[in-house]
Amino acid sequence: MAPPPRDSESSINATPEYHDFIAKLTAYHEKRGTYFDPQPKVGSRLVDLLHLFNIVVDRGGYDKVSDEKLAWRKLGQEFSLGANNLPALAFSLKTAYYKYLAAYEISTIHGKEPPPREILEDTTAKGSGLLTRTLENYTRGRRDTGGLGNDPSDASGDDGTPVRDRNASEDAPTSGGRATRGLRQAPPQRVLFQPDTLPARRTPQQHHTSAPSHNAHSIHTPSHQPPRGASTSYNPSSHPENMSAAVSNYEPRQQIPLPLRPVVTPGNNPVEFARRHEAQKEVGAGTRYGATKGMMLPGNGFDGPNIYIRCLLALRSNIPAEQDYALHHLVKISMERGDKYRFESFPGLAEALLDKLLEVSSLFYDVEWKISYMEDDMNGDQTIDGLSGTSDILQRISKLSQQEVDDNLQAADFQDRLLQINEAGLTLRNMVMLEENAQYVSELYPLRDFLTIALNLPKLDMTVELKHYALDIAEQLTKYMSFEVNDPLYRSLLDQIQSPDRGAILTALRAISRISMNLEESNSLRGVPAAAVQNIIDWTLLYDEDLVHACLDFLYQYTAVVDNVDFMISELQVESLVNQLTRLLLYGARTTEKELPLGRDWKKPAPAEPAPVPKDLLAQLLRLEEPERSSKWLRCLCEEDKDESITQIALWQAYQQRFTQPVHEQGRAALLPAAEFIKGVSTTFADKATAQVQAGPVQKFIIKGIRFRHVPVDLSGEEYSKCLWRNHPSSTIECGEFFMTAEQMYNHILKDHLHAPQLDDGKFQNHNQDYMCLWGKCQRYRETSAAKLSQIASHIKVHLPQKKEAVDPYGPPPAKRIKPSYIIPAPRQTFLFQNTAVDERNDAAGIPLSAVLVLRNLARNLPKTEAEEVAMKSDEKVSLVDRLFKPVEKQLFEIFAHNKSLNLYMSDLLSTIKEA
Ligand SMILES: [Zn+2]
Ligand SMILES: [Zn+2]
Repeated sequence: MAPPPRDSESSINATPEYHDFIAKLTAYHEKRGTYFDPQPKVGSRLVDLLHLFNIVVDRGGYDKVSDEKLAWRKLGQEFSLGANNLPALAFSLKTAYYKYLAAYEISTIHGKEPPPREILEDTTAKGSGLLTRTLENYTRGRRDTGGLGNDPSDASGDDGTPVRDRNASEDAPTSGGRATRGLRQAPPQRVLFQPDTLPARRTPQQHHTSAPSHNAHSIHTPSHQPPRGASTSYNPSSHPENMSAAVSNYEPRQQIPLPLRPVVTPGNNPVEFARRHEAQKEVGAGTRYGATKGMMLPGNGFDGPNIYIRCLLALRSNIPAEQDYALHHLVKISMERGDKYRFESFPGLAEALLDKLLEVSSLFYDVEWKISYMEDDMNGDQTIDGLSGTSDILQRISKLSQQEVDDNLQAADFQDRLLQINEAGLTLRNMVMLEENAQYVSELYPLRDFLTIALNLPKLDMTVELKHYALDIAEQLTKYMSFEVNDPLYRSLLDQIQSPDRGAILTALRAISRISMNLEESNSLRGVPAAAVQNIIDWTLLYDEDLVHACLDFLYQYTAVVDNVDFMISELQVESLVNQLTRLLLYGARTTEKELPLGRDWKKPAPAEPAPVPKDLLAQLLRLEEPERSSKWLRCLCEEDKDESITQIALWQAYQQRFTQPVHEQGRAALLPAAEFIKGVSTTFADKATAQVQAGPVQKFIIKGIRFRHVPVDLSGEEYSKCLWRNHPSSTIECGEFFMTAEQMYNHILKDHLHAPQLDDGKFQNHNQDYMCLWGKCQRYRETSAAKLSQIASHIKVHLPQKKEAVDPYGPPPAKRIKPSYIIPAPRQTFLFQNTAVDERNDAAGIPLSAVLVLRNLARNLPKTEAEEVAMKSDEKVSLVDRLFKPVEKQLFEIFAHNKSLNLYMSDLLSTIKEA
């Protein structure tokens, strides 16, 4: 479509059409939730958005215009933006369109759903492809092109600054969006490559200072060592001092879909590698790693390979100085960038490291291993089978003649070589911490051979470091491997269990426990020597959490196989193991006590009538005037209860009966009229009690929300105590008078019930007479009565009210403290819990979990063993499960009851034992 002729007017032409368009746009952005400026400014001019929209749509839309070289600049000229700083103004114009019109264009012109604002309005107006932009392709695309400087979407050159000097002009006026981009992304690649300024040849002393993350003596000074063992994820990049700028700033290039062909290596395709190697030999020409044709060489705009590639090439160069350089950096990179450094991206790296590692044998033996990936080239004792591993490697090692090596004194050359090998080992160890890498190299058979070789190196101090790396590597790899019982690596790992080195034992145990963890065939762990299993059982007694855990994990895998259980029960002392495992079920248990209610709280039914008013309270109330008197009386005899109600007439009558006469006798003002009294009830109980009319066949006038108290309280809210004295042994009617203090109650009983003679000073005179205790259901002195007053008097003290608790001056205010007196709380019981470790999903974890799982394996598998058959045929006829588990049965049930963390597992274990 040809652009129609237009005038180059850029000031706003406020036609009705324009207003209509702006209104639609405003509504559109409101709905989309994006910011909208109806009159954006570019340079010093306001932009007519309708005009801009029409021009761009006429030219085929935003995407098309943006794909065209310098199109936005031409557009800017047509908009009379002026030639001054045109690139910046063109980008402003593009931004205006991008922010306010692009989504609208997609919706109205193309009839499609525009991309979400996160990748449209919220980002800078860079590039094109809005119609096909999705969350996925946009974010990935950005990363892919970042830092390479040849983003194809830059074609229009309108993105603020010219392509050429974009790196130098981050602060150009229109690159605001770019500045944030620049921060998030790696600097352009060209500034990254920093050639090593160290002299090419370094003395051994310099090695140590230049490789701080690793030195040969650190094994013996564990305090300076990062936590050992493959299971501990050690991430040195969290320590800034460990980071070198060249490495930390560098982002490895993502794999980009360029016309790259994978290099065939012995690791990724041994058969094809062999074929090509063969073909090359026949041609007799060409270098091993391919020609340099098509390579980007220095001098033609390419700045050389990045440090990763450089290290790889240096390592493969076989030049010692280059290899020093390579290994020094590989150790750093593998430690600091372990998450990004993948063998898959660097074909040949694993093989090169392996070649270096295999050199270790030449230091101690008269041998130089060669890896062969060709079937017909496997002859000779020094050739390692690269295709399927060397099954007789152990025998071959044993036949080698050992070199004279002094553990304390070595030649510089020897030390340099060992350092290189250790660095290669450390690099490999760090790299396999990444699961992808572990899986990748687990299929590399020569690596298994190397691990075997390393584990069988002479027992010298200087080989300890490499052995530990080999064990760490093994721990990471064994889960991807399966082993025959005579596999050299498997045997070598088992040998480590007899080693005196705790670290070696720990890692070896973990490595063995993980064998076949990820594979489908079950791990049978056959052929473990009895002495080794006995060691493992004994170590569970040690106070060494890591070791105990590793032992239990091993035992869990081991006891899962019936044959192993049969072997254990026939060859070893298993009783002590069951005892110890039972003990470990409470390892690290935290004892807590918890009080739990037995049943529910109980609510006493409300009395139908008010309690009698105690004499002293009546006297106090009579001294008051209305309406205070009626209010206090209500408080003392009633309490709030939202479920109960009292009829108004009952309340009024009770009040009248109590007070009419005494008030009259004392000649005081008359009682409140009924209506006033009822109104006063709501006031007294702060609207919790309300006068209501209850509908029904007979209307009832009630007060909802209160009930009578069983026992009155005094003016300060303190409960009275009731006298339960009966006037006759066969009567059930109690005296029912209320007293506040024990003394009042005592005097009352002696005076009014026992009729004790009183002296002038108020004291009672002892008197010989038969006395009975008629308090409630008390049976004392019923059969044989007390012969003296003093006798019954001292007994009566047990029935007196207890001294009231002193009010805590710091406690809650009295109103809050008073609980409903009619709620009888449910009895409570204290339970004891001994819960052990749990994981983040509240599932059992740690040593107790491993222990219960081993016990369950034993309970399940013991009845299936041949030893069981033998036991049942013997005279005693006691099953193995009974023999082993009966003695600890009581403890097991106790743990089941108290250790809630293990609850499920314990019930499973106990039912397994029962079924056996
Ligand atoms: Zn009494
Ligand atoms: Zn009594």
